[in-house]
Amino acid sequence: MYWEKDIETMDRRELDSYQLNKLNETLQLAGRSPYYRSLSRREELNFKEIKSIEEIKELPFTTKKNLQDGFPYDFLAVDLKDVVRLHSSSGTTGNPTVVYHTKEDIETWENLIARCMYMTGVREDDIFQNMMGYGLFTGGIGFHYGAEKLGVLTIPIGPGNSARQIWFLRKFKTSVIHILPSYALRLYSFFNEMEINPRKDLNLKIAFIGAESHSEEIRRKIEDLYGIKAYNSYGLSEMCGPGVAFECPCQKGMHVWEDHFYMEIINPDTGKVLPEGEEGELVLTTFKRRAMPLIRYRTGDLTRIIPGTCDCGRTHRRIDRIKGRTDDMLIINGVNIFPIQIEMILMRIPEIGHNYLIEIRKENYMDRLYIKVELNEEVFIGTLFELEKLQVRITDDLKSELGVTPVVKLVEPSSLPVSEGKAKRVYDLRNN
Ligand code: AMP
Ligand code: ZN
Repeated sequence: MYWEKDIETMDRRELDSYQLNKLNETLQLAGRSPYYRSLSRREELNFKEIKSIEEIKELPFTTKKNLQDGFPYDFLAVDLKDVVRLHSSSGTTGNPTVVYHTKEDIETWENLIARCMYMTGVREDDIFQNMMGYGLFTGGIGFHYGAEKLGVLTIPIGPGNSARQIWFLRKFKTSVIHILPSYALRLYSFFNEMEINPRKDLNLKIAFIGAESHSEEIRRKIEDLYGIKAYNSYGLSEMCGPGVAFECPCQKGMHVWEDHFYMEIINPDTGKVLPEGEEGELVLTTFKRRAMPLIRYRTGDLTRIIPGTCDCGRTHRRIDRIKGRTDDMLIINGVNIFPIQIEMILMRIPEIGHNYLIEIRKENYMDRLYIKVELNEEVFIGTLFELEKLQVRITDDLKSELGVTPVVKLVEPSSLPVSEGKAKRVYDLRNN
């Protein structure tokens, strides 16, 4: 049974005092790592007992740069002999961000994923095809062990090789998938080519989508194309991986598992904690991690805490869909734009297909925003006149929402570059 009712619906006051205990435990544990010990020696961190959870605001932040500077072992709070696995975060320069796990950490993580999957209705008789990358990336392995813990038949296929994916989906009547949203859209075009209708010819009912930012419009598109429910899954290697926050059947934000993590939203510029409902950077403190406890870790992800309680009855608070990372914001001739805003507008236009690409160039000392969009099959074979009209309409929609006039280029379906890992859709070429 992975419906942990007592924990998931714990009275808020009880949950607060549970968190206070856990926070004090984390402080003691963290004090064993060279990094936090040195902070305390420099009197930047005090390990004295915290009496109210509010006092967490007085503790220092931990950043990705701290982790990189502390490579390889400064954050390790246990003996290396007690570590059974490491994972590493994607796509950074310099020292990688390496995260260690004890046996207990792995078990805690498995249970957390099992809890997430169970919450959305996955049961032992489901067939789970895990299309996330296996390896240093936490997405694949994290879900793999969680699903096995739940007792679900798990197909560790990993991403890519769409013909083989489809073969497995059909032969094993896969009912649940875990997939990058960008890959879910790309995979759909293969169904089209093979003249298979995933709504009718497959047994799919649930997809877990995450690991990269995506708009509500993309989620709805995936649900619509496949005839399934798609649940948003959020996590980061530094906390464990997936399983940090997850959507329940209400699909109105992701519950952060507050028995495992303490969350704050801060103003990324001032570091001040913001009230519920206001958008800022998500900061997380671990409660149950043994090998590498982290205090007030700045995730770099922008979101807000959704005020109020969820209809599902769970008391753990929810965060909104991730708007992007603090470093994702584009400043185009002085106007601030997040790539996800562009995606939202594009995906509301039915003639647009499944992929797009953003380029920013410097031309005559001015920034120029180029947006290439794939059309869907039916529109692509339309007349030149129709295509021109469509291009003007897309440009107008973007201009009125963004306050910047982009150069829109319409391209053939499936013609834009794709990657097997997280999608890279923004190319800022201004310094080239
Ligand atoms: P990694 O540690 O390499 O797996 O990357 C974690 C990062 O991926 C997070 O900090 C987010 O920026 C991003 N991410 C993970 N899940 C989601 C999600 N559901 N929506 C948006 N971004 C996500
Ligand atoms: Zn809920």
